[in-house]
Formats: sequence, C-alpha cells, structure tokens
Amino acid sequence: MADNNDFYNILGVSRDASNDEIKKAYRKLAKKYHPDANPGDKSAEEKFKQVSEAYDILSDSEKRSAYDQFGKAAFENGGAGGYGGYTYADASDIFESFFGGGFSDIFGGGFGSSQRKNGPKRGADVQTRLNISFEESFFGTKKQITLSMQEECPTCHGSGAKPGTSPETCRNCGGTGQERVQQQTLFGTMSSIRPCKVCRGEGKIIKSPCPTCNGSGRVKRPKTLELDIPAGIATGQSLRLSGKGEPGERGGQSGDLLVTMYVSNHSVFVREGNNISLEMPISFSQAALGADISIPTMNGEEKYTIKEGTQTGTVLTLRGKGFPTLQNNKICGDMLVKFKVIVPRKLNEKQKELLRKFSEEGHEEFEESRKSFFEKIKRKFE
Ligand SMILES: [Zn+2]
Ligand SMILES: [Zn+2]
Repeated sequence: MADNNDFYNILGVSRDASNDEIKKAYRKLAKKYHPDANPGDKSAEEKFKQVSEAYDILSDSEKRSAYDQFGKAAFENGGAGGYGGYTYADASDIFESFFGGGFSDIFGGGFGSSQRKNGPKRGADVQTRLNISFEESFFGTKKQITLSMQEECPTCHGSGAKPGTSPETCRNCGGTGQERVQQQTLFGTMSSIRPCKVCRGEGKIIKSPCPTCNGSGRVKRPKTLELDIPAGIATGQSLRLSGKGEPGERGGQSGDLLVTMYVSNHSVFVREGNNISLEMPISFSQAALGADISIPTMNGEEKYTIKEGTQTGTVLTLRGKGFPTLQNNKICGDMLVKFKVIVPRKLNEKQKELLRKFSEEGHEEFEESRKSFFEKIKRKFE
C-alpha cells in the first residue's frame, strides 16, 4: 500500500527523480484526477489535491530540499520554521497550457467552498522577506520587523460608516448580498445567483462614509512585531505567525503573516543541507610532514593534527558541528573540512635549493604512481 503521506509516493517517482520525471508524473496523474474529468467524484478531487501539493513541493528545488530534510513538518502551519504558504500558482500555469484555462475556477474559492460575500471573511495572509546573517541562522535570533499593515479603522471600528451613522441594509437584495437572475435560453428559463449589483455583494450600503478610512473600514499603520527565529532556519523557509496578517471582515479570522528567510552567505563556511563545508588551506610542508592546526567552526576553533602525507581533497568530518535541525536543535549536521594543499608560487633561492635537494633524494611514491599511470594509458592504446 502506497504511503499517501509521502510526496514521492504520491507522484510515483523515486527520491532521486529528475525535474522532468516529476513533471511528467504530475501531468499524467493530474489529467487522470482532474475534477473536469471526474465530476462530483470526491476521491478523485482528494487525489488531485494530493498530487498538486506533491508537485508544488517537489518541483521547487528549495521546497524539495526542505522536504527531503524535514519531511512534511517543514510545511506545516504554525510549527517553528514551518514553510507554509505554498500556492497552487505553479500548477495553474501548467494547466492553462493543457486544459485551455478554466483551471482557476477550481482553485478560486478553495476547492468549491464558495464564500458568500457578505458572510465572515478571513483576512488576507501577508508575506514578507527578512534577511538574516549566516550566524543568526546558525544560532537563532530575535528580530523586530516593522510592516505597514491593514488594521481595523479605530474611528468606525471596521463598519466603514461615519460615527453616529450606520450602514443601511441594501434594499435590492434585502441584505443577503446576492440576487437571483433569470435568463431565457434554448433550454428554457435558467436561474442563477450572482452578487448583488447595488451593494457589490456586501449586503449593506454606506451612505456617510467614515472620514478616517473613507468607508473601507480599515487603515494602514506601521506595526512592529517581535520574531523568534529558530536556530537552523535556511533560506526559503518561512515563519508563519498565525493571526498576524490582515484582519478579517464581518467577524472573520485574521490572516497569517509569513516571513520568508534569506540567509547571507558566509565568507568561508558553506551550508549544504544541515552540514557545513569548509575548504581549509594547508601548506605543502604541513601536508607532507603533518602538523597541529586549528580549524575554525561556528563554535570557535578546534584543534586538529594533520596526518603525514595528507592530500588535497582529503575530507575530515567533525561530527555535530553543522547546523541544528529545526525540530530538535540537539541533533546537528556535521562539518566537512576539505583540505587544500597550497603549492608555493614564490620561492626564494634558498627554498628552491632545498627543494632541488629534496628532488635529488628521489620520490619513490611519485615515481611508482607515475609508472602505473603511463602503463594504464599504454594499455588503452594497444
Ligand atoms: Zn473608519
Ligand atoms: Zn445588495
């Protein structure tokens, strides 16, 4: 039985599938389960949603790597570092091209949950980005951000009507915000419901608008928020602050605030998943003779003894010196130190002389590997 929680299983692709394979699998399944092809079939609609969600994550390299690292937890609402806020925009682009439009209707009101315009309406989600340093993403930090946000108008408390007056019920629709329209067609009289034209679906008409907000019921104001940024957060991951987005209307919930992180590069450390890689220069003689060196890590210097004969490209793994994972900051990635032997370019006469002497001593190891190298080439041409 396929695991319906795994995006790779949902699309039926392997974990190392290429972008093309993912796209192909998605197109095939999306066609199969598309609501237009399965009218009224709830299980097809559910499948279709799963397939679209999986494609949304796996087709985006940043989201895919977050998913590979943290699983679905990376995208769950409210969780620290929750990726949140994925949209179906990408999917709809593709569909426009092979269903010739009509796709947005399905997604419009959140899968057919068409909202009556004059009922409670949830406030919009607000998205913003925040730049943080490499160190801040490693250790976690607190940040204050100030955003210009919609708020309920303090003068009219959101009604949009001038104080002392109140909005009047629309006479055209009796306050429902909807009107029934009848049309004569070839098949007889068809009746349909649409938003009331007089009140634009609001159900109410404001005769004397509030002077502060001009009748909109809301005003923009700078709002300062304190963000608790967890250690280990990476570029592209978002914090979701539930209820900190725009206020809802007519008693609806507030939207969420999504803050997407952009982490600056470090001068020497490079983040790879939860590991940190570092290219560590060592001298020619340190590499040949071995040496005690100190290696920089995010938590200070580490003493290390290079072995005699260390080669360029040798990788040393410092366990647990990488980034903490978001779910459990006691579990950390590793630090991968790649040694790079620096061959001297500017030697003085004395150094050159010493190296000539070194050369005269012979270099058995090198001679051997050179011999076997040329033998391999010869064999190839025989
Ligand atoms: Zn107002
Ligand atoms: Zn009306």
